Amino acid sequence: MRYSQYLLSTLKETPADAEVVSHQLMMRAGMIRKVAAGIYSYLPFGLRSIRKVEQIVREEMNRAGAIELLMPMVVPAELWQESGRWEQYGKELLRIKDRKEAAFCLGPTHEEVITDIVRREVRSYRQLPLNLYQVQSKFRDEIRPRFGLMRGREFIMKDAYSFDVDEAGADVAYEKMYQAYRRIFERCGLRFRAVEADTGNIGGTSSHEFMVLADSGEDAIVSCDSCEYAANVEKAEIRPPQAAAPVLTQTLQKVATPARRTIEEVAEFLKARPEQLIKTLIVQTDAGETVTVLLRGDRELNDIKLCRLLGCNDVELASEELVKQVTGAPTGFAGPVGLKARILADSEVRFMTDAITGANELDAHYTGVACGRDFIVETFADLREAVAGDPCPRCSGKLEIWRGIEVGHVFKLGTKYSAALDASFLDAQGQEQVLFMGCYGIGIGRTVAAAIEQNNDDNGIIFPMPLAPFQVIVTMVNPNDEQVNQAADALYRQLLDLGVEVLLDDRDERPGSKFKDADLLGIPLRVTVGARGLKEGALELQERRSGEREMIPLAEVGALVAARVRQALSA
Ligand SMILES: [Zn+2]
Repeated sequence: MRYSQYLLSTLKETPADAEVVSHQLMMRAGMIRKVAAGIYSYLPFGLRSIRKVEQIVREEMNRAGAIELLMPMVVPAELWQESGRWEQYGKELLRIKDRKEAAFCLGPTHEEVITDIVRREVRSYRQLPLNLYQVQSKFRDEIRPRFGLMRGREFIMKDAYSFDVDEAGADVAYEKMYQAYRRIFERCGLRFRAVEADTGNIGGTSSHEFMVLADSGEDAIVSCDSCEYAANVEKAEIRPPQAAAPVLTQTLQKVATPARRTIEEVAEFLKARPEQLIKTLIVQTDAGETVTVLLRGDRELNDIKLCRLLGCNDVELASEELVKQVTGAPTGFAGPVGLKARILADSEVRFMTDAITGANELDAHYTGVACGRDFIVETFADLREAVAGDPCPRCSGKLEIWRGIEVGHVFKLGTKYSAALDASFLDAQGQEQVLFMGCYGIGIGRTVAAAIEQNNDDNGIIFPMPLAPFQVIVTMVNPNDEQVNQAADALYRQLLDLGVEVLLDDRDERPGSKFKDADLLGIPLRVTVGARGLKEGALELQERRSGEREMIPLAEVGALVAARVRQALSA
């Protein structure tokens, strides 16, 4: 492609409404343009990257035995009423009426339509298993669309649905998709983790979110440094500490801690470390129950874990008044010794000795506290937030903390939709059975945005080779120099013949602004054709990511660049 004849205009200024870096850079690099809130046109340069993700997704889905079809974006209300989602789904579902006053929606997802197809087309177990997918534009009427393609209203998605005769079959389908997703994101050249996700009310453990790692990610996740365990921080399990022989060097002693309430204040005052303190939290559940929760001083309570243990939906810290009622002291001096309350504790507290806690009276703490000797805990459980370095629950490795952007999701649906829509088949005995389903999504545009969130610097995008709109940019320093023009053109043609995707920057612009654009566009390799290099019989090759430059003899440039591209694609 010749830049001078292409539709590609870069922006020097960052658009005011673009908050995240991928949105900013996709606007500045001329990849997308806003049409309405959360609705974008994919301009040619951006569409090339979108198509690359789609291509990888299609190849891996097909390889895993899935079959492509295409369903309509406009879906009749009846199907959604049959599943019950017409009423359940909030305003994110854009409901519309046609000229005959018939109700429709713009599909945000296609479980109903695909289940309707399968209940009509599939009669016998001999036609199963099936995994059907599409790549299509979807619509979700987000209340506050933002972040460009990260949270748009219209978005391109790959969604797949598997149908099996039983749960064991559904497990196999799920595993195949899990492996296909791993290959997809590996082939995209992205650093990612497959994270165990909450399955909500569907139940079971089989839901994974595929997260592209990026500091700007909206989700905090943990992963093991030596096995495949990864989970959302809220859900991350921590291996309970090993039983240790108690070391009791101190006896229980009450000490004055005037006006020292926080862990930091008390630790500093008593010349102790925060981890020697026992943090005592008085917590109230949404069911109206009050419990006392103990944690090591430097730990944070994980509300979700506590809710799960208590079987409630929500917990909050007790009011000042309630704390006084339970402990007899103002906030900041609570402790388990002598406390008449239901006491729960994080597993770590079990082995704490020579510890420090509040004494349940103003301006006083206990030192030399030992769990089991000085107070009794009803239940020990994993109740704290995971931190970097925590022991992995699955192996002897350690947990690392990352931020991630969800780009894919695999989910076991069971019979939720097939039962609601009466999608069944005849088994080998001629008995009617309900189908077992799974659903598997990948946000195509979101993957491109996440790739940019992960791969950028102050100068612009740094595309991984597999997702780059063009693999190489050939920059003519001065297109009006006949020799430069000819040499660049010859290289351009040679690269095309070698199957390389190349953008020839033949614009009559200052070299400085062309180099700036090349950096902004993030094309992985740049060859600069200038008069000075040609005189020496060499061209400069620069790698976008490392910024490394090297002079390559003119006759070798084409073959070398083609080899570098191939190498980067197979890495
Ligand atoms: Zn592990």
